[in-house]
Amino acid sequence: MESVEYEDAIAGLKKLLSEKGHLNDIAAAKIKELTAELEGTDKFDPVEKIQNGFAQFKKEIYEKNPDLFGELAKGQSPKFLVFACSDSRVCPSHILNFQPGEAFIVRNIANMVPPFCKTRYSGVGAAIEYAVLNLKVENIVVIGHSCCGGIKGLMSCTDDDNTASDFIENWVKIGAPAKAKVKAESHHLDFTEQCTSLEKEAVNVSLGNLLTYPFVRDAVAKKTVSVKGGHYDFVKGTFELWNLDFGLSPPLTV
Ligand SMILES: [Zn+2]
Repeated sequence: MESVEYEDAIAGLKKLLSEKGHLNDIAAAKIKELTAELEGTDKFDPVEKIQNGFAQFKKEIYEKNPDLFGELAKGQSPKFLVFACSDSRVCPSHILNFQPGEAFIVRNIANMVPPFCKTRYSGVGAAIEYAVLNLKVENIVVIGHSCCGGIKGLMSCTDDDNTASDFIENWVKIGAPAKAKVKAESHHLDFTEQCTSLEKEAVNVSLGNLLTYPFVRDAVAKKTVSVKGGHYDFVKGTFELWNLDFGLSPPLTV
C-alpha cells in the first residue's frame, strides 16, 4: 500500500517536471532537503532516547504506582545486595524482575567482589558496608553470566604483571584463584567451556571474598545474611542459583 503511494508520488512529480521543466532546479533543491531530513530520521538521538525512556517509565510505572513510590520517597529497605556484570545484556532488574526498592546493586566488569582493601577497592567496600550495616540486606547474590568478556579476558591474560590495559586485567585478576582451579580441573575442555566454568568459579571466589569483610562475616555467622551464587545464561535462557556453605558458626557469647 505504502509503496504504491510512494510510486504514485514519484510518478506525479516526474509528470509535473516533464510538463514544467522550469521547476527542475527548485525540485532538485527540495529533494536534497528531503533526503537530508530522511537521513536524520534514522539517526540515533541519545537525548531523545533518554527523554522517551523516562516519559514511558513515568507514564507506565511511576504514575501507576503512587503507593510504592510514596513509600520509596521515605526510604529504602531492599532485601538484596546484588553483584552483577556491567554487561548491557544482564541487568538484574530486567532478568530477575526487581522492582524499585528491592535490590541494592553493584555492577562492575565480570561481577567481581574484591577482597577487603580500604585503599584499592574502597568503592565496592563502601557499597557492601552500606548495604549490610545500614540497609541490613538479608541476601547477597553474586551473578555471573554467559559470554562474559571480563571472564574471557581473565582466561586469556598472562599471569605476569605485564598488562595491556590500565585497569581491566588487574581488576579481573581478582578471579585468579578461580582461573587456577579451572586450569587444573578442566584442562580437557575447550576454551569456551573453560570460560563457562570460570564464569561460575569466579562467582565462588567472590562469595569467599565477601567473608573477608568483617561485617559480612559476622552477619553470615549470625545467619542474618545469606550469600548465594548465580549464573545467567542468555544463550540458553537459563538461570542457576546456588548456596555456598562456609560452615561458619556464630561467635560464642559468654
Ligand atoms: Zn560480563
